[in-house]
Amino acid sequence: MNILVTGGAGFIGSHTVDGLIKRGNRVVIVDNLSTGRREFVHPEAEFLRMDIADAGLGKLFTERRFDAVIHCAAQIDVRKSVEDPLADAGTNILGSLNLCEAAARAEVRRLVFSSTGGAIYGDTDLRPTPEDAECRPISPYGITKLSVEHYLHYYRVVQGLDPFVLRYGNVYGPRQNPHGEAGVVAIFCRRMLDGLPLVINGDGKQTRDYVFVEDVARANLLALNCPVGDTVNIGTAVETDVNRIFHLLNEALEAGLDEPHGPPKAGEQQTSCLDVGKAHRVLGWEPAVDFEEGIARTAEWFRAHHGS
Ligand code: NAD
Repeated sequence: MNILVTGGAGFIGSHTVDGLIKRGNRVVIVDNLSTGRREFVHPEAEFLRMDIADAGLGKLFTERRFDAVIHCAAQIDVRKSVEDPLADAGTNILGSLNLCEAAARAEVRRLVFSSTGGAIYGDTDLRPTPEDAECRPISPYGITKLSVEHYLHYYRVVQGLDPFVLRYGNVYGPRQNPHGEAGVVAIFCRRMLDGLPLVINGDGKQTRDYVFVEDVARANLLALNCPVGDTVNIGTAVETDVNRIFHLLNEALEAGLDEPHGPPKAGEQQTSCLDVGKAHRVLGWEPAVDFEEGIARTAEWFRAHHGS
C-alpha cells in the first residue's frame, strides 16, 4: 500500500509511520514542521515539507496515486485555539478540507482522521463516554475537530470517501511535545529533568483518559484496513488525575519534589474518560500498555533525550 501521512513528523504521526514502514507500506509524509521534528521521520519514508492547506496538494494526489491517507496534521494546542480561533480553524478546518477535496478527486477511499475524545464531548457525567454521547466541545479546537467529522460525513455520503474517525484520549509517550492534550506529561518530565519549578493547576484532581502512543499508532493501522468506515474512541476507560501523574514521574525521574499546587485554570475541562468497547468490537483493538508501564517508558525517553 502507498500511504500519505499528514503530520508524519509529529508525535503520533511519526509512531504511525514507523508501524506502516515495519509492515512494508510505502509512506509519503506531508508536514510543515510547525511542531514536528525532522529527526522523528523514519529514514525509509519520503518527507515533503508542505502545508496541508497548500494548493499543490491536489497535484501531489494526482501524481502519487495514494491508496489511503492518515490525517494527523493539526494545530493541536487547545489554549492556542482559545487565543486565536481563526488560525486554529485555518489549519484544522480549511487545511483538512483542502486534503479531503484532494483525496476525493483522486478517488482515495480510506482517510483515517485523528479526532479527539478528550476535547469533543466536553465535561459530562456519562463516563466512560461512548461514541453516541452528545458532543459539546468547550474549546475552538474541539469544535474544529467536530466540524471536520461533519465534513467527513458529507464526503462519505456524497463524494465516495470512506473515512474512519478515531477519537483519541489524551495521548502520551516518547516524542510527545508540551502542546498536545496530554502536554502535562511532557511539561512535568522536562521541568523535573531541568530542575525547574512546576505547578499543578488547582487541586490536581482533573482527570483524563491517558493512552500510550504505540497503542494509538496501532489503532491507526487497524483503521486503515477495516472494511467499513466508522467512528470509534481510542482510550483506556481509566480516569487518571494530575496528582497521580506528578507522583509517578517524581518517582521515575527521582526529582524529590513536594506536590506544588497553584491556582486553578479558568474554564479548564475537569474530566474525560472514554468507553472503548466499540474499538474492541469494530477494530479488535484494546490498549496493551498500562499507565504505569507507559509513564516509565516515557520518563526513560525524556531522560535519554534530555538537552537534545
Ligand atoms: P504533533 O504536534 O506532534 O503533530 C502534528 C503534526 O502536524 C506536526 O508534525 C506538525 O508539524 C504538523 N502540522 C501542523 N500543522 C500543519 C499544517 N498546516 N500542514 C502540515 N503539517 C502540519 O501532535 P500530535 O499529538 O501528534 O497530534 C496528532 C493528531 O492527533 C492531531 O490531529 C491532534 O489533534 C490529534 N490528537 C492528539 C491528541 C494528543 O493527546 N496528543 C489527542 C487527540 C487528538
